[in-house]
Parts: sequence; structure tokens; C-alpha cells
Amino acid sequence: MIDEEAEKKELARRYRNLLKVSTKVKSKADKAKVRKAFDVAVDAHKHMRRKSGEPYIYHPIEVARIVAEEIGLGTTSIICALLHDTVEDTDLNLDDIERMFSHKERIIIDGLTKISEVVDYTASMQAENFRKILLTLSDDVRVIIIKLADRLHNMRTLNAMSRDKQLKIASETLFLYAPLAHRLGLYALKTELEDLSLKYTEPQIYDEITAKLKKTQAVRTRFVNQFSIPIKQELERQGLKFEVKARTKSIYSIYNKIKNKNVTFEEVYDVFAIRIILDTKPEREKTECWNTYSIVTDFYQPNPDRLRDWLSTPRANGYESLHTTVMSPGGKWVEVQIRSKRMDDIAEKGYAAHWKYKEGGEESHFDAWINKIRDLLENPDSDAIDFIDDFKLNLFSEEIFIFTPKGEIRNLPKGSSALDFAFEIHSEVGSHCMGAKVNHKLVPLSTELKSGDQVEIITSKKQKPNESWLDYVITGKAKSKIKAALREDKKLLAEEGQIKFEKWLKKIGLKNTEENLKHIQALYREASPHELYIKFELERLNLDRIKNLKIEGGKIIGKAKEKKANNKLEETLKKRGKSEEMLVIGEKMDHFDYKISPCCNPIPGDEVFGFITISDGIKIHKINCPNAVDLMSHYAYRIVKARWTSQHEIAFLAGIKVTGIDEVGLVNKITMLISGELNVNMRSISFDSDDGIFEGKIMVYVHDTKHLTKLMAKLKSVEGVINVIRIDG
Ligand code: MN
Repeated sequence: MIDEEAEKKELARRYRNLLKVSTKVKSKADKAKVRKAFDVAVDAHKHMRRKSGEPYIYHPIEVARIVAEEIGLGTTSIICALLHDTVEDTDLNLDDIERMFSHKERIIIDGLTKISEVVDYTASMQAENFRKILLTLSDDVRVIIIKLADRLHNMRTLNAMSRDKQLKIASETLFLYAPLAHRLGLYALKTELEDLSLKYTEPQIYDEITAKLKKTQAVRTRFVNQFSIPIKQELERQGLKFEVKARTKSIYSIYNKIKNKNVTFEEVYDVFAIRIILDTKPEREKTECWNTYSIVTDFYQPNPDRLRDWLSTPRANGYESLHTTVMSPGGKWVEVQIRSKRMDDIAEKGYAAHWKYKEGGEESHFDAWINKIRDLLENPDSDAIDFIDDFKLNLFSEEIFIFTPKGEIRNLPKGSSALDFAFEIHSEVGSHCMGAKVNHKLVPLSTELKSGDQVEIITSKKQKPNESWLDYVITGKAKSKIKAALREDKKLLAEEGQIKFEKWLKKIGLKNTEENLKHIQALYREASPHELYIKFELERLNLDRIKNLKIEGGKIIGKAKEKKANNKLEETLKKRGKSEEMLVIGEKMDHFDYKISPCCNPIPGDEVFGFITISDGIKIHKINCPNAVDLMSHYAYRIVKARWTSQHEIAFLAGIKVTGIDEVGLVNKITMLISGELNVNMRSISFDSDDGIFEGKIMVYVHDTKHLTKLMAKLKSVEGVINVIRIDG
């Protein structure tokens, strides 16, 4: 039985409470607007109930309360929180909202409704979902904050849901919403979202950690009190206003440490943390923070490796604080966080607090972050999965600080290369980047940067992005710009290739018909004419194959030979016949199931033998393969003689090691030589540089040993290269 009277009373109580905690709603007009939104929401949801049986309206009220009390937002946000589910779930539409309130509310509720429309949880949908959430950033960041509050309340009340829904919602929270909250600097919210997610995804572990925390609570409190006494006394003696808090680690962060660092609960909890919050004026806060640091380290010995100064250089999400780790008399490490009340507010409440403290004009770190995301979103080509991979990387990795030659600071994710930095400066600088000077020393583009490096980028008009650059960069911005440039490159190649290819067809008497083209495409097994044109332009097509076709009246008569899928080893042996001793590689290769062994990567010209494996056909090894002795001595009966044919159309993988003196553009010269001048395909390339000497490993596709020798000779002639040798894999 529903007690309507009791519910009415409860509703009134919740309304009064909402008003009480909405400290930013001050004017009469604002209060009237909140009242109106409240009435509209109550009416719209009046017949609805939640899974738990409660009136549905409790949910929007609670979301509004979180927005007001826990995040600290004002009237518009509270109104939108109250109305956030109306357009999606009730008869109201966006026009109604605009009529009753204003255009601002319409935009925000529209954003909130759009986010909710995506309810599938497959990988690609999640990515798309995520992108949509971010896209709404450009409209109004309040959309995301209200969505986070909505999600927080749903997580707090997840008990009523079925087990599979709990799992879906909890993992989505961990995947999407907690990182978003983190990025917005909503630390308390992020922590609670993570803890609640863990409660549903790993209930046993969650209960275990919670129980242990409870059990050790008293001991920890006593320790922290003891530790703080001398600091407190000295701070008081100096007349500073402050508050000392014991900081508790979140359940999720303990879980993470136990899982990732393979330590026990006790080990994780051996690190204590306290926070000293100074009540001071903005112009005094830095001085007082350092003064407090000095007091703390007068009593306790600090670990110099663990000093984190986010006073001078705040983190990208706006976090400011001074952290140090000191040794307590009992031999335990204690992390001490020192910050002002203002900094603490920003750390806990993030964006909203920023808003409050922000003074006119100056671009905050938060704005810089939003701009970065917009940059990324502006690239229309990046597909959603790509995007989320690139983006997640930026989201989860730690940051490094890099100085420009003028001493300006740029934030980059940990693991960024000099090339990432170049793209961070400007996409033009990135695209023409030849090399970099890190702390005045020349280094290759791929060099990974460290926090505090001063980096100068060297550019050249002639330089342009190539495929291998993608191996050097980790930031989304650099990746998307390089990919776009490569696409553009290929487009040009295909266009030029097409013109030449059509001319060539005419020359050999073939009409440029769709039928003929399809035939040729099938002949080379290319996915599209586009690929065909590119290969033609790069002179990578064996044109004899077309010339050998039967042509009559401009049409291809003969069929392109079908590849036989018959690959069984028994068949192979039968075909080979008992008398035929030699396996000929490269000729009629379709009849034989052979593979080039990756342990030595033989190529035509190398002396080779075949080895019959049990389940993987015949493997081709070099005579001097490191494994050859073992194979020949133990399994002589499974060895077949083999030789190469003179056929030149197949490419084989070979490894080359290049050493030389590290100088600007050398890597570029080498890659240009291989892929540009010699038209050789590279599968991978990696360069290491140490004290002015670099060592590069390149895997290339070549036709035979002659081809490889020629390539190596060319490489040797590059200025700066000292030695070139062939390596096995
Ligand atoms: Mn909702």
C-alpha cells in the first residue's frame, strides 16, 4: 500500500532540504525559478516509480541536490538537474522547456537527453557514446556535470537493479564516467564512482577491503594524531589558521594497488597520508604552503624523490598542492599534502570551484583542456574506436611537463616523444619536424621526453609525415594529424597512378572498361582500384601478368588464374613425388604449403632447406639458421632440400641493423632512401640513440639477396652511417 500522505510530506521535506543546500540560489527570482522547475518535474513524473518502488521524482531531486551541495553549482544547473529526465521519459518536449524556462535550459536538457539515448554497451557503441558526451562539451560543460551527478545517484541506488544491469552500469561507470570526473577535477565524485563500481563488479574484494579498513581505523587515527601534534603546535605558535585531516585512501585505489603492484593490503596501508589545509589569503597562500613544508620537514626527514610541487605548476585539470613524503619516528612513510582552502576546494569540487575563484580574462587550465578536446574532435576522419584509444591514452596516463626554448610550459602525457611535442606546438611544426634538440642535444624524432626537458624543434620545408611516424607518437593530436596527412598523400598517389595506369592500358591495347578493371583487380587481389593505382604509381605491380593475359578487341578473354586453396601437407608431398628431391620455392607456390621461418627470415639467394613440421606445413630456414643444427641432427628425415626460383615478384622479410652518428635528419634520410628512392616496403623501424650514436633496426621486404645487398650498400653511403649489417629477426 502506498501512503500518499506520507509521500507528500516526504516530498515537501526534500524540497526544503534542496533549497537549504542550494547556497548559490539567492535572489527571489532564482528561488521562484527553482520552485517552478520543481513543480514541473513533480507533475511530469507523477505516475512514475523507480525500480525500488519509490516515487520517481526522488531521483531528479536527489540529482539536483548533488549538483547544488556536492558540486556547488547554481540556479541553471539545479533547474536542469530537476528536469533532466522529463524530455526523455515524460510528455514534455524541448519546446515546452524553452517556453517555460529559457533557451539555455533547452540546450542543456537536449544534451542530457542525447547522452541517454545511447544505451547499447558494445565496444563501438561505447566509443561512440563517449564521443557524444564529449561533443556536448562544446555546448555547455554543465551537461557533463549534471550527467555525472545523475550517474552518481544511479550508482548509489544500484541495489534495486538486476545483477546483469548492475554489471553493465558499473563497468560503464568505471570506463567512462569516473575518468571524466577525474578530468574535470571532481575528485570526490570520481572516488565514489570508482568505489561503487567496485562494489558491484567485485563484491567480495570490496567487502574484504571495507572490513579491513574498519578494523584498522582506530590504529590509523591514533598514529596520525601522534604524528600531527608537533606540526600543529608549531603552526599555532606562528599564528597560522589551518586544519589537519587524515586522508583515507579510496577502496578502489587500494584494490588497484593490490592488483597492479602485487602487494598486500597491509603493505598498501603502510603509507599514511595527512592533509594540512591553510586558511589564508590568495596572495599569501604560496608563502604559507612553503612555510608549512619547512615546519613539517623540521620535525620529519623528507624523501627528496617524493616532493611534488603543483603550486608553481598546477596539473592540467587545475589541481594545485604541495606534496612531500616524510619518515615518521616509527619508520613509516607519511605523505603530507599542503594546500590552501581555495586549492582544496578546487581539488574536491573541481570545475565548479574553479568558476568561483576564477578571475576575469585569464585562461584557466580547464579551458586549455577543453580546447585540446575540441582540437581532437575537429578532425572529422578519425573513427570512433581510434578516437577513444587515442583519447583514453591521454586520459589515463600521467603527465609530463616540457619547456619550450622560451621557457613556456606544455603538458604532455607520459611517454610522449619529441614528435608529439612538435605537434603539440603546432600541426605545421609537427608536419615539418626533422629532429629536436632536447636540453641542447640533437636527438631523433622518436626520442621519449622526460618531465622538465627543454625541447627545441628543428623543421624543414621539405619534410613531411610518413607511416613510421605513427610508431613514434602517442598523443591523439599527433596521431590524427599524421593519419590525415598520410591519407592525403595516398590520395595524390592514387590520382597520379590512375592517369598513368589508364594511359598504359591504352598502350597495350586494353580498353578502360569497368569489366577489364575488375579483372585486373582480381588478378592482383587488390581490395579496390584505389590500391591498384597506388601500387602502379609506386611501380610495385608486375605488369607482365597483365601482358600475359589473352586480349581480344580491347577485352580480356583469358581468366585470371584462380588460386588453389588446397594446402594440405599430404597433398604437397604427393605432388612433390618420391623421386622429386627438390622443393622449389617461389614457383607455383600455391601448390605448396610452405612458410618462411621467422627465426631467420631467409630470402631468395640465401641457401635454404625445408623442414616438414607436424601441423604447420613446410618451413623454410637458412642453412646457417641458429636452429638449423638442432633440426638437422634430430630430424634429418624431415628435411627437404630447397632452392629458390628466379621469380622476382614475391617480397620477403629481412632485417637490417644500421649504426651511425646521430645527427639531424639522419633517420629521415634513411627512411626516405628505403621507401622513397628504392621503393622498398618497410614493415617496422626502430631507432635507439645513446650519446650521439644511434642504432636502428629496420625490417624490410626485399626480393632476394641481391636486392638486399644493393639496399645495404646504398644505406652505407648515407652520410653519418657507420655500419650496416643483416640481422635475423
Ligand atoms: Mn536520471
